[in-house]
Amino acid sequence: MSNAKVRVRFAPSPTGPLHMGGVRTALYNYLFAKQQGGEFILRIEDTDQTRFVPGAEQYIIDSLKWCGISPDEGQGFGGDFGPYRQSERKAMYKEYADHLIKNGHAYYAFDSADDLDRVRQMAKAAGSPNWQYNHVTRSSMKNSLTLSQNEVEKRLANGEPYVIRIKLNRNEEVKFEDIVRGWVSVNTNNMDDKVLFKSDGMPTYHLANIVDDHLMQISHVIRGEEWLPSAPLHVLLYRYLGWEEQMPKFAHLPLLLKPDGNGKLSKRDGDRLGFPVFPLQWNNPENDDQFSGYRENGYFPEAFVNMLAFLGWNPGTEQEIFSLEGLSEAFSLEKVNKAGARYDHDKTKWFNQQYLRSKTDSELGQLLADEAAKHQHSLSLEKASAIAILMKERAYFIKDLYEESQFFFSRPSSYDEKTTRKKWNSDARNHVRALKQMFSELEDFSEDSVEQSFKSYLHDNELGFGKVGPGFRLAVTGKGMGPSMFAICSILGKDETLQRMDLALEKLP
Ligand code: GLU
Repeated sequence: MSNAKVRVRFAPSPTGPLHMGGVRTALYNYLFAKQQGGEFILRIEDTDQTRFVPGAEQYIIDSLKWCGISPDEGQGFGGDFGPYRQSERKAMYKEYADHLIKNGHAYYAFDSADDLDRVRQMAKAAGSPNWQYNHVTRSSMKNSLTLSQNEVEKRLANGEPYVIRIKLNRNEEVKFEDIVRGWVSVNTNNMDDKVLFKSDGMPTYHLANIVDDHLMQISHVIRGEEWLPSAPLHVLLYRYLGWEEQMPKFAHLPLLLKPDGNGKLSKRDGDRLGFPVFPLQWNNPENDDQFSGYRENGYFPEAFVNMLAFLGWNPGTEQEIFSLEGLSEAFSLEKVNKAGARYDHDKTKWFNQQYLRSKTDSELGQLLADEAAKHQHSLSLEKASAIAILMKERAYFIKDLYEESQFFFSRPSSYDEKTTRKKWNSDARNHVRALKQMFSELEDFSEDSVEQSFKSYLHDNELGFGKVGPGFRLAVTGKGMGPSMFAICSILGKDETLQRMDLALEKLP
């Protein structure tokens, strides 16, 4: 097995939008596959038709693409092991259920929902609230272990509804080694005879999952911790189907925890605490449910992915910023933590800020120009880049960058109240008037030239920066603070700067 090719799969059920915990599972599968030179497969587990939500599959595919973790193979991506949607593989599963019946590891059960309800109620009344269909209780139920063979055949021939259940042995330790958790051991006395197949011809998750992992030659099952309780059953299925030699290795990933308190990060937490829980915005086609997405909130996919990678793993060094490629080099399943990973929204914003700062000037300029265009301001790439360089230290998102840069796109419609009160007086007016006069004579309106002119004004009049700077800034930008005024003036250009000084002299008291 260890020499076999690494093939891993992400196997979501299309029951709604993909939670960021699901994206993290996909990401770890992807990273592991890339690192090992293996393949990453997307399989859609839609055997439970009652939970099917239209649009969910496309949402999953779009989310993976946005994150840059496209599968090599799978639903929507092609490959030799298809179909990759379990509903289209329906015909394949029955023979495995039959095989299990034949070798004595499964049985037919004819109990109706009412029957099951009744025994549950009785057990509850007798003080056992958690009744299970298991090696003890099955002997008093309607199944092929208690009914005569004739009776079973008759019922099957009559088309009576049935399910096929796994037959667990009594008091057997099921052991397997999980890459994240080490040895896991569960006694079958604490397990139940799970349904594997239903008379509508559909397998349940457990059977379909094992059959497909086997047929698709999956080498490692990397999935969320919520599936750990199912793993012993899966181990037994591999054994009973005669596939134990080729059983994939398991790695169960830690839960994502709420930022506050205990428990799993849920889809409601995001809107409660003001951050997205989903990669992309989701509008439920069946009701008015709407959930916000990282994409629509202005996150770079690289930042989102980098943040997710650290929820449950770290490289063991100080380095925090990793490209997808860097992640796949550094990643290892052995370094995945057992303990739940607490989501930290400030950290997520910090990652976005790091990625924003690391863009080249022209990339950032283009992003700013695109954002400005959405607000009907058109600006050249050159100008947009100059603004972006000046303003980027303050921004977490492109929309911050745009908002912080507002004063470049429109003249002040109001002036910062505190600065006006404290710094705008007759001296300030005189300085602005004098500076305006000096600037109007400048031929070169570059940052350096504006700076020299300004400084010579201070020097000649024996003035400190604090006497002149704030009023000057207020006049040109309307603000009390900001980056270098010389750079701002040169980006605005001479005419615009002079007109703004005039406007301030006219408007300010
Ligand atoms: N269909 C399961 C899910 O929705 C897959 C679990 C597994 O990876 O085995 O998460």
